[in-house]
Amino acid sequence: MKQTKHFLVALTLGLTLASCSKDEAISADPASADMNENAVYSRSALPATTEGNITWEIPGLKAQDFSFKYNNLVEPSECGATPFNSVTAYYNNALIEGFISSWDFNRDAIGVILEDYFTINQIAALIGKNTDTFGAEGEYTAYVQNRVRSLEKFWNMSDLISVRGQHTSTLEDLDFIRFIYENFSEATPDQVDYLVGIANHFNTTSDQIPENPFYASDGFATSSGVIVIGDGIVSMLAETGLDPKVVWSGILAHEWGHQIQFQNYGNWEYPVPAFIGTPESTRMTELEADFLTGYYLTHKRGGTYNWKRVEDVLLSFYNIGDCGFESSGHHGTPLQRLEAARQGYILAASQQKAGHISEPQAIHDAFIEKLPSIIGGAL
Ligand SMILES: [Zn+2]
Repeated sequence: MKQTKHFLVALTLGLTLASCSKDEAISADPASADMNENAVYSRSALPATTEGNITWEIPGLKAQDFSFKYNNLVEPSECGATPFNSVTAYYNNALIEGFISSWDFNRDAIGVILEDYFTINQIAALIGKNTDTFGAEGEYTAYVQNRVRSLEKFWNMSDLISVRGQHTSTLEDLDFIRFIYENFSEATPDQVDYLVGIANHFNTTSDQIPENPFYASDGFATSSGVIVIGDGIVSMLAETGLDPKVVWSGILAHEWGHQIQFQNYGNWEYPVPAFIGTPESTRMTELEADFLTGYYLTHKRGGTYNWKRVEDVLLSFYNIGDCGFESSGHHGTPLQRLEAARQGYILAASQQKAGHISEPQAIHDAFIEKLPSIIGGAL
């Protein structure tokens, strides 16, 4: 079965696995692996690509900003070393090593734990399973709800957008995993039992599965009016020293920007068509979402943050993005994105003394006018 292709963020896997270099031998006998810590399965036994059991694609128009899956390839990042790349490299390796430590060399387990789990938690977010809270312990629920009300008021979009949390704990629910296999895969009842058995084994024996933040690292907006923000993407960014509340606000404001684009889809004019998946198209809509983010976050009637505070957080987001111009997921270079947000801030600063909030159309027009200098000026 063909597995949904997720947008892969380039990860820095700079950590060399020195401790594994002597452990290359693959033991096919789990008992001996338990007996002898030197005879563990090596990550070299994991194929570079695997297929899951679920065919799934987010319906409608979508803007996928964050999504992490394990990356078994140790290769230098095109985007250079950043604090965030170090954090994601750490969790990537923890996930792979956590998988291997519970692995009995059953290759089907790769498809379940390292493929399906990501898809299952994406479906969970989109169908509204366990999505009413934010933060692993619900510690940001009130904050996010307040922020959503602020965005609704600012953009005059009451009750149009559903903002949903995503949690690794959802994957502890074996009945839910069973439900997904029954409804979103072609597995027979016997096969479903078998796949759920694999899930049970790893959930019971590994402290990374499903606890690893990669399993709740989605950040996307869909034209069905849904925004999904996983705990994992926020917590990993916060681990680099950022204020988690500003991280929540920054991601929310950006995804809300995509919702404004979806609302005006077909009416707003662009130099190239929006949401057609080409690098130019994606870069343009992403830069506009950044422009709208800078406008809202710094506006006195919006996020009320000063620009310096916003700049630090946004630059961290922008350093996450891929650096490949060929990729359809290209979001713009960090400098272009920061410039887009800064132009949004400048627009807000020029208006907010009078407490004025522009109509989205006027902000869109202002962005289109600035787009050549945003792209060109940063090159
Ligand atoms: Zn985006």
